[in-house]
Amino acid sequence: MNMNEETLDPVDWAPLRAVAHTAVDDLLGLTENLRSGPVWKSMPEDVQKFFQQSLPQEGEALEKIYADVMEKIVPYRTGNIHPRFWGWVMGNGSGTAMIGEFIKAGINLNAGGGFQSGAFVERQVIRWCCQMMGYPETASGLFVGGGSMANLVGIAVARNQMAQWNMRQEGLQGENKKLIAYASREVHSSVQKAIELLGMGNENLRLIGTDSFFRINIEELSKAILRDRNNGHIPFCIIGCAGTVNTGAMDDLAALAEICKEEKIWFHVDGAFGALAAIAPELRHLVAGMEQADSIAFDMHKWMYMPYAAGCVLVKNAAAHRHTFSLTPTYLSHAEGGLAGGESWFSEFGIELSRSFEALKVWMNIREHGIKKFGRIIHQNVRQAQYLGKLVEANPDFELLAPVTLNIVCFRYLKNGSNEKQLNEFNHKLLIRLQQSGKAAPSNTIVNGKEGIRVCITNHRSKSEDFDLLLSALRELAEGQVT
Ligand SMILES: *Cc1c(COP(=O)(O)O)cnc(C)c1O
Repeated sequence: MNMNEETLDPVDWAPLRAVAHTAVDDLLGLTENLRSGPVWKSMPEDVQKFFQQSLPQEGEALEKIYADVMEKIVPYRTGNIHPRFWGWVMGNGSGTAMIGEFIKAGINLNAGGGFQSGAFVERQVIRWCCQMMGYPETASGLFVGGGSMANLVGIAVARNQMAQWNMRQEGLQGENKKLIAYASREVHSSVQKAIELLGMGNENLRLIGTDSFFRINIEELSKAILRDRNNGHIPFCIIGCAGTVNTGAMDDLAALAEICKEEKIWFHVDGAFGALAAIAPELRHLVAGMEQADSIAFDMHKWMYMPYAAGCVLVKNAAAHRHTFSLTPTYLSHAEGGLAGGESWFSEFGIELSRSFEALKVWMNIREHGIKKFGRIIHQNVRQAQYLGKLVEANPDFELLAPVTLNIVCFRYLKNGSNEKQLNEFNHKLLIRLQQSGKAAPSNTIVNGKEGIRVCITNHRSKSEDFDLLLSALRELAEGQVT
């Protein structure tokens, strides 16, 4: 029977193989030579227009498509693979991880469940994460899209576990009581998003004031909890910050753990990047108390330098974790053998059913370098932040805006005779000019009403000389009159 059957596979594999080999050489070459190129390049208008073409009806040659990728997409990336990218909180990636991503797409396994190698790798990496965070290995956990999703998962378990009714069955309407969460004013917006998405309303996320180091004010927190209890509400979760996004502040996690224990409140730690301080022996004391948390959210794509996406969540009470998400209709039933076997399915511990195999690149990288080396580079980033902080302090043209407590330096350029408003505007423009120059890419920040430049070092490629270059580039731009 002639059905004119088609496939996406090539008839002749040789041209595909040739493009694949070129891609490997091009991308490794790009990575090897990053330092000599700009951090970031603004996409010109003609290139922007290129992306307005209508839906292709017929195919074209892969060689042509690949040329467009290299010419129109690769040069205009965010730039976080570069040694002088320090904006927001972004990791670099690694050559080995690139291989991992290629293999991941090649075998294209569904990490949602079933009896397959991905589950073994992910379970092993999650166990390694437990060791890294000082957690018992009986804890559960999984890879998710990022810290936002990890916070959502952790806080969802907290909500279901701490409600005094059957949350899955009755929802928030089960009882006329309010569930209240607490975090410092510096907490990441993803926590508010999680509270909103979980139906609790952001007015029930109490944002507590901070001290001069931007750490949560414990006394104010205790008073808020008492007030809520007296009003008949249910304080259900305290979210501790292990590294705030703005200044890298570490809440007193041990004190928060103590309160949670006494008050029977779920303790969730948002440690998107800061939790990784746990693997550097010199920094571990900063996250003391984190091991007492009921759940921890962190990202491998930030301070473990993995390519996107690799968020992680750990939950100490595995049963509570599974109880929040598990749903196994007949088409997802587990079998005692065959492909539907396997002890636990990751899809029962999170929101996603079909899942990508993000654990592979992490598994490969940790094996290749050993966890000690990651700890050393994390500590190196902290020492680089201290170095930059000292350079800033020693230079009368610059002013530090917040104490350097981890890997983040917030500072601004001082201009003689300017008032606060003018300084804010000047620094705002100075940062844009710096990014446009392609020399370095920090992001902006506002600390106590002062706008400045924020350098967040989650970069395994940065060297101390890069920070000298940053300050001289800023001085040059500032003196060259940023208008
Ligand atoms: C980045 C970040 C998040 C969100 O993580 P994503 O991976 O971007 O979703 C949450 N909290 C903190 C402190 C962060 O730095």
